[in-house]
Amino acid sequence: MEFVDLRTVVALSGVMGGLMSLVLFGLRRNYPRSIRGLTEWASALAMMFVAGLLAARRDALPTAITINASSVLLWGGTYLSYAGTRMFFGLPVRHRPWIVAIALLLLVQVWFTQVAPDYRVRMALTTSYAAIVSGLHGWLIARQRPVTLARGMAISVLAGLTVLQLLRLGTAFTSTAQADFFGNDPWQAIYLTGLCMAVLLMAIALVLMASDRLHDELVHLASHDSLTNALTRRHITAACQAELERCRRHGRQMALLIMDLDHFKAINDTHGHQAGDAVLVWFVGRVRSVLRPPDQLGRFGGEEFVALLPEVSRQEAHGVAERIRAIARVNAPVGHCSVSIGIAVSQAPDDTVDQLLARADAALYLAKAKGRDRTEIALETTA
Ligand code: GH3
Ligand code: MG
Ligand code: MG
Repeated sequence: MEFVDLRTVVALSGVMGGLMSLVLFGLRRNYPRSIRGLTEWASALAMMFVAGLLAARRDALPTAITINASSVLLWGGTYLSYAGTRMFFGLPVRHRPWIVAIALLLLVQVWFTQVAPDYRVRMALTTSYAAIVSGLHGWLIARQRPVTLARGMAISVLAGLTVLQLLRLGTAFTSTAQADFFGNDPWQAIYLTGLCMAVLLMAIALVLMASDRLHDELVHLASHDSLTNALTRRHITAACQAELERCRRHGRQMALLIMDLDHFKAINDTHGHQAGDAVLVWFVGRVRSVLRPPDQLGRFGGEEFVALLPEVSRQEAHGVAERIRAIARVNAPVGHCSVSIGIAVSQAPDDTVDQLLARADAALYLAKAKGRDRTEIALETTA
């Protein structure tokens, strides 16, 4: 009994897979280059699309083309989508072992097509290979954090695909139905339909993963300074606001450090603006090495930075500032570097970010007035 027309399923999903490939190629054109793997994903779908078309034309074209070429495209496409995901997550990719493996598979396949035709062995070859690659691919995504909806979808599809391939591998030898690609074996119908659905769902999951990444990159761009990668003024101010409210609720303390590089104009004048930029980037890296994970660092403008230190006492904040001052003095990319620091610690429950910043700024002003390269801490206001 034929409950679905398999040729139609393969041809239709092939066309849809081809369209999804175009969508991914379109994303490649418009998305930033930092989002990697899109070309591989799009090419993988294009290869599967052609493989589907060839398979659907099984009786009209010579088997050497339909079977062998479509298998190579399918194997290559399966691998390429895995390679694309590795690139997407910034992992290294080595094509050569895979090309060798696919060439070996092809040799065996040609033997079982041309010399000793055996559909079941060919089926076992393809399903074993695809089960391994889908399993690896799913495992790769499952190891990445966070597990988003799109990634969860991709993991589920790949897990389903692995099970489907293993099921078909098992049934290839046990089923007594006619053994052929478009034969009336119900297992083959389930396999092909599942495979087509999986390729489409996977394509959707990949598009969603790419747009999640774009969203993350845009959020990062909007909240981070492009030169130093410190938080923007707006973002660090909002973070201070949120932390201050948390302090109010839980009766905790927080400290703000305002840091201003000393005589920075002289560095620019002597060594050039680019060298000045390098000092700013270097300084942010040094400060980060002193801060703890909950601390946040923002660029307030020019060569002025703000560090937000949650849950620290005056003494602890002073210790952090002194460590920053100490490491700013050694190994600057050019010339001599030093920093003046003003500290303010939240106290009264009605303290505001503006008041806190004003106190830290006044302390910084004092540090500059007293000769620079020093830390001043704002006096406690009414307790
Ligand atoms: P002080 O010790 O009083 O802080 O002196 P200063 O020279 O550090 O301060 P001033 O405000 O006179 O000069 C700050 C300089 O920082 C002037 C400006 O050209 C430079 N600057 C601001 N933003 C950037 C930047 O993004 N890159 C570079 N290279 N220089 C910058
Ligand atoms: Mg300065
Ligand atoms: Mg300044």
